[in-house]
Amino acid sequence: MLDTAKALIKSAGKKLGLSSAQIDQLLAIDKEHQFEIKLDDGKVLPAYRVQHNNQRGPYKGGIRFHHEIDFDEVRALAILMTMKTAALDLPLGGAKGGVVVNPRELNDAALEQISREYVRYLKDHIGPTKDIPAPDVNTNPVIIDWMVDEYSVLTGDKTRASFTGKSVEKGGSLGRNAATGRGGAIALNALLKHNGIAEKELTYAVQGFGNVGSFFATVAAVDHPNWKLVATTDSNGGVYNPLGLDPKKLAEFKDKGGRFVEYKGEKQISNEELIGLDVDILVLAALGDAVTEANDKHVKAKYIIELANGPVNESAYSHLNKRGVIILPDIIANAGGVVVSYLEWVQNTKHEHWSEDKVNTELNKYMTKAMNELTKITEENKVSLTEAAFMLAIKRLLEV
Ligand code: NAD
Repeated sequence: MLDTAKALIKSAGKKLGLSSAQIDQLLAIDKEHQFEIKLDDGKVLPAYRVQHNNQRGPYKGGIRFHHEIDFDEVRALAILMTMKTAALDLPLGGAKGGVVVNPRELNDAALEQISREYVRYLKDHIGPTKDIPAPDVNTNPVIIDWMVDEYSVLTGDKTRASFTGKSVEKGGSLGRNAATGRGGAIALNALLKHNGIAEKELTYAVQGFGNVGSFFATVAAVDHPNWKLVATTDSNGGVYNPLGLDPKKLAEFKDKGGRFVEYKGEKQISNEELIGLDVDILVLAALGDAVTEANDKHVKAKYIIELANGPVNESAYSHLNKRGVIILPDIIANAGGVVVSYLEWVQNTKHEHWSEDKVNTELNKYMTKAMNELTKITEENKVSLTEAAFMLAIKRLLEV
């Protein structure tokens, strides 16, 4: 993922006429923190925070708990955050954090210990005007609430603006849970509208029916009933029905902790089969590197929307691009979460609490503006949406 992120930035930088020194400066990481968290049972967990760039504002980026995360992946995700906040014109920079752990193997007491230790280590480097972490894969408002509490105890901060993605009772924003999925639906609709097919009957498949994938599908079911969900998966496999699946029913099943391999009444499908389905739109909402040179030839969809970070690797991107597959890039497609995180931070710093409607209206404005700019750059420069998104972000970074 790091190679892909760097390659995309280099290519967009060259299109903008930047020198190698300017491109190196864009890729340079401000600060890296690497440490260990020791659990009561003696386990030692590697932990990271990478602060890539704060030229446009405080560092911003999630903290991921995952057994397979490594330092390079955190670096890539931090760089992508800088690009994302710049592309969306938010006054924020880019960072990312991670702890190498499988949270499913731990009880709540251990998770709380990890969350508090993480903050204790980083307390001097984070905060409302320095670096504002948020949830990511396998982290959630409960974990963030522990982190905010620890930060407040250690520093006396009362604003709760030190983290976003808190529970609503502890200063979180309404609409944050659904924001990334909703933002993805807004972005995709803008693109389909631009291409004159927004009102057509379209089929789509979602890889990864977690927070992002499930909200994308449930929001789409209400706002775009002409988009038909025909397949979706979790890490073990999924369900397929060419006549259409009910996103709400599937979301309720997942909310109860269900796994699709146990889902009754629909045909089962593997993750690889989902990638090769003959659908109009492939929604990638699981993890990075889901489509690579090993499986890109199976893709039949005309559109891919990258709701996960870096789900299409560099060579797959190049093959798919040549084949005319339209890829809506992650740094814009999945930016809904960071937009509402920013809105949460604004509410905290102003001591306000906005209605969900107001939050969704603001989200719509940010996503629509970014999509308008994206399609304009694509057409003016005859480049792919991915190149255009990075060009947009880089231009903004150079303006500072
Ligand atoms: P999540 O943990 O809620 O959901 C991830 C889903 O993907 C789960 O259903 C999991 O079972 C499934 N999955 C994991 N490996 C898979 C595989 N190999 N094949 C198919 N499914 C698989 O996480 P999330 O918050 O929905 O995040 C999903 C992606 O979106 C991540 O890449 C994350 O970085 C990115 N993202 C999330 C947000 C956010 O606000 N949550 C914002 C921006 C980007």
